[in-house]
Amino acid sequence: MGTSISESRQTAAYPLLKGQKALVTGANSGIGKATAIGLGKVGADVVVNYVSDRESAEAVVREIESFGVRAYAHEADVSQENQVAEMISRMVDEFGTIDVLVANAGLQRDAAATDMTLAQWQKVLDVNLTGQFLCAREAAKEFLRRGVVPEVSKSAGKIICMSSVHQIIPWAGHVNYAASKGGVLMMMQTLAQEFAPHKIRVNAVAPGAIRTPINRDAWDSPAAEADLLRLIPYRRVGDPEDIATAVAALASDLFDYVVGATLYVDGGMTLFPGFATGG
Ligand code: NAD
Repeated sequence: MGTSISESRQTAAYPLLKGQKALVTGANSGIGKATAIGLGKVGADVVVNYVSDRESAEAVVREIESFGVRAYAHEADVSQENQVAEMISRMVDEFGTIDVLVANAGLQRDAAATDMTLAQWQKVLDVNLTGQFLCAREAAKEFLRRGVVPEVSKSAGKIICMSSVHQIIPWAGHVNYAASKGGVLMMMQTLAQEFAPHKIRVNAVAPGAIRTPINRDAWDSPAAEADLLRLIPYRRVGDPEDIATAVAALASDLFDYVVGATLYVDGGMTLFPGFATGG
């Protein structure tokens, strides 16, 4: 009765984030893509950040729009200060504000420590740690400017850092990556402490092994997958949607009292699986 198709679609989904404006970085692949789509599905308008491959970002936008919410793609390198500032300022122009930041963009440049070049070290730190800081800083400025709008959310803003089980599990051959994620843990907790009095919630999601292009070698042959499953008590490699649902829940008011926490979404990978039969 007078309800447009897009409105009825939106009501059909569980509108956990109805009316909220979300930015997901690195949203044209893997976990970021599933998360951007997942947030759209629960009612958020979404900015789909990408650094390369515009077409895949536009495909994510179209999928999000099919839920009756708004979306657009924005090209920016999260490690570049001016590009991040520009991205948030355009979002405020187009959507009016930002309510949820998912600082997801990340990469690996693996090498044995003695072979690792300074460029490999620096690139991973620049994107995985500095990139998250720059996005969090710019989003927080807008959260502070706007404050709480009770009809939208109990908090003034939510920042979700995409960390990794490697924020606490050392990882030989990946010292740059493990150091970046260890840094994300302390950055997230410090920002959570600093911003909490302003009603801004900062938390992290720490995925275990999720089937995405970043770790294809670890799961794309039966032998590799069997090897990987030994590290996962739940005996299943995760899907990007496992992370997307965790992010949506954590960003919603259902989790309003969760501040400075890491939600491990890892099938038990952080439970010291080697001790299940030994120790
Ligand atoms: P992915 O390679 O599919 O996606 C990474 C995304 O980040 C891509 O869209 C890529 O273009 C983007 N990106 C890279 N550099 C960027 C930059 N400078 N600016 C903007 N975007 C940039 O990998 P994924 O597995 O989806 O990884 C997403 C996040 O999840 C990363 O932070 C990763 O560390 C984390 N993570 C993944 C796993 C896993 O098992 N897949 C486990 C733990 C943590």
